[in-house]
Amino acid sequence: MKKALITGLTGQDGSYLAELLIAKGYQVFGLVRRSSGGNLDRIGHLSDRIQILSGDLLDQTSLMDVITIAQPDEIYNLASQSYIPTSWTQPALTAEYTALGVSRLLEAIRRCQPDARFYQASSSEVFGAPDSAPQDERTAFRPRNPYGVAKAYAHWMTANYRTQYNLYACCGITYTHESPRRSAEFVFRKITRTAAQIKLGLATELKLGNLDARRDWCYAKDAVAAMWLMLQQDEPDDYIIASGETHSVRELVECAFNYVGLDWQQYVKVDSAFYRADEPVQLIGNIDKIQTKLHWQPEYSFRQLVELMLESDLQQLGQESIDPKIRLVSQLN
Ligand code: NAP
Repeated sequence: MKKALITGLTGQDGSYLAELLIAKGYQVFGLVRRSSGGNLDRIGHLSDRIQILSGDLLDQTSLMDVITIAQPDEIYNLASQSYIPTSWTQPALTAEYTALGVSRLLEAIRRCQPDARFYQASSSEVFGAPDSAPQDERTAFRPRNPYGVAKAYAHWMTANYRTQYNLYACCGITYTHESPRRSAEFVFRKITRTAAQIKLGLATELKLGNLDARRDWCYAKDAVAAMWLMLQQDEPDDYIIASGETHSVRELVECAFNYVGLDWQQYVKVDSAFYRADEPVQLIGNIDKIQTKLHWQPEYSFRQLVELMLESDLQQLGQESIDPKIRLVSQLN
């Protein structure tokens, strides 16, 4: 039985990856920081099939201890401070988690389990204001916010440990990916959840920033399938993980409100407070390499993603309005 260690287990991707690995017969360990004791909603349904180990990316000793206990064949580092606005208000903490945390983890692997295969969650935010679109694995990094800077550091440290110490270490440069388990501060979930709330009479308007902003969105379940595939190859390598197409916030709003039978123009208010000063320019992934080498491509279309999230939001909100104590049951989608 293969063993895998996931950091960021309690997050969106960690919970889907844990499900995937359990289904593939892995013994799954999750590194969970002490402060997240009350934040296990996304993995509650897996609690009897995962071994949770206490550790923190801020603490070198805890990382070494966790790896020594788990002795994993594969390590997926999904933990980070992942919200860009917070990276502006807490830049040093973002660097501690998202940049230096990866140095600590790589050192722990090198010292305690050098044969483990390592996946680092890199991000399209490393490209920031790219010279060209679509971006591929050779596009220059020009991050434009502290989160992107921290991810760029982590990316290059991973690549350097691969060459310097011969670790099997890979970076997946993921573009935005969504699911019913996404936090509601991210725009995709904010739109589907608020459209569902308006449909159910629980809200009256949706405030958004730039409706012309475009993103390359895919489904988190598709993204974690790519992460796993990357660690099954003969040689470690870095890959873009994306849908390869962009859609505007306006298209997303139209699609979501159409699905619930409402005219979006009656409910959506543009508010400049929600504009991003560091709006990325033409972030779209070129997925030729991962399609050709790993035969991966997203299974869910943009429209299917909007619909499955709306179905989930409608179901959740319906349950919550009957009994507010019911927690996000349909997050199990
Ligand atoms: P998420 O939902 O924000 O989850 C982040 C996870 O990191 C949580 O489990 C959190 O634990 C954990 N964490 C934060 N600080 C930690 C620390 N000091 N020690 C240990 N754990 C810590 O993120 P996600 O959406 O699943 O994304 C997974 C990874 O992909 C992240 O690295 C993110 O930056 C990257 N990424 C995501 C996207 C996307 O669209 N989702 C796109 C590009 C890259 P708590 O429960 O304790 O808070």
